[in-house]
Amino acid sequence: MRAALLAHYDAHRREMPWRGETDPYRIWVSEVMLQQTRVETVRERYGPFLARFPTLRALAAATEAEVLKAWEGLGYYGRARNLRRAAIEVESFRGGRLPSTSPALRALPGFGPYTAAAVASIAFGEPTAVVDGNVVRAAARWLDEDRDLARAPARSRLEAAAQAVLDPARPGDWNQAVMDLGATICVPRNPQCLVCPVATWCRAHAAGREDRIPRRKRRKPVPHHDIAAALVWKDGQVLVGRRPSEGLLGGLYEFPGGKVEAGETLAAACAREVAEETGLAVEVVELFRTVEHAYTHFTITLHVFHARVRGGRLRATGVEDLRFVPTSALAELAFPRANRRVLDDLAAVGPPPWAAGAGNDGRRAGSVC
Ligand code: SF4
Repeated sequence: MRAALLAHYDAHRREMPWRGETDPYRIWVSEVMLQQTRVETVRERYGPFLARFPTLRALAAATEAEVLKAWEGLGYYGRARNLRRAAIEVESFRGGRLPSTSPALRALPGFGPYTAAAVASIAFGEPTAVVDGNVVRAAARWLDEDRDLARAPARSRLEAAAQAVLDPARPGDWNQAVMDLGATICVPRNPQCLVCPVATWCRAHAAGREDRIPRRKRRKPVPHHDIAAALVWKDGQVLVGRRPSEGLLGGLYEFPGGKVEAGETLAAACAREVAEETGLAVEVVELFRTVEHAYTHFTITLHVFHARVRGGRLRATGVEDLRFVPTSALAELAFPRANRRVLDDLAAVGPPPWAAGAGNDGRRAGSVC
């Protein structure tokens, strides 16, 4: 089974910029990017990130804002913050060299079992199995395991099987080969058993049950929230604030706003949220853009209004670095994807005519964002 899968991997592996890489730092970056992010997205972003931070030392020397800006659009920003924290720790206390074993890697920020096993096996040849969703699905089918895979008995069995079947001579290639198999052939629906290199050893396939393994769970409905936010203009500048470092989208900039409460109009919610977050009373002038966006556990409709200041004094509550900035500065700041889509539209059409003022830099946003 090992020989068959590795021969298939050698002949058909997916070409990716990080395949064949030997620098542990670059392997680590690829594995962190690949968590919860599509390969196609990582393929585009891997090179530019490494061009910006070519070495672990360069990453450790960067500010959090610089790293978040380079990570913009990849989502799950905690990964970027932990990547930087771990780089600082390695640079400060470990002589700039990543530890070579998975237990030592797990002591660093952001290294869970998956990332530690992936980096230790691919970069350092440690014979430790990676267990991600693709591996679990393939192993469940090899063993015809039809119990709930979220529960300990089935999970332990699959982890033990993944470790037992790992090729100790080529652990990094083996792990990547199993992940490739799960991503391209042993896919969740309609696995391609006819072209599968390990079909001979697959019990679910032998029993004709590959479509029923793993057992499917009924998905819970995903909550949806309406969010009202404002482009608050003053003297041609727009108001932004940075979310606190910890938590969802931590360290990213955004426009003031928040959840629309039951019975509230969008404009009223927008004015209330701006007042609570910034201390400013605003006149909500017009709806600028509506954006649909999906996070892992909920979806949002983001309603973004143009608004102007009518009174109050700037006082940040629940945000940091609250300030008016010229539109030319927006490109330098890291925003969540939904906000970035609003900025792209703003760049195309520019601020409303009434928002122009002495504080702007005289150019349309379209020329600078
Ligand atoms: S034979 Fe089918 S179910 Fe079994 S590992 Fe291959 S693709 Fe997956």
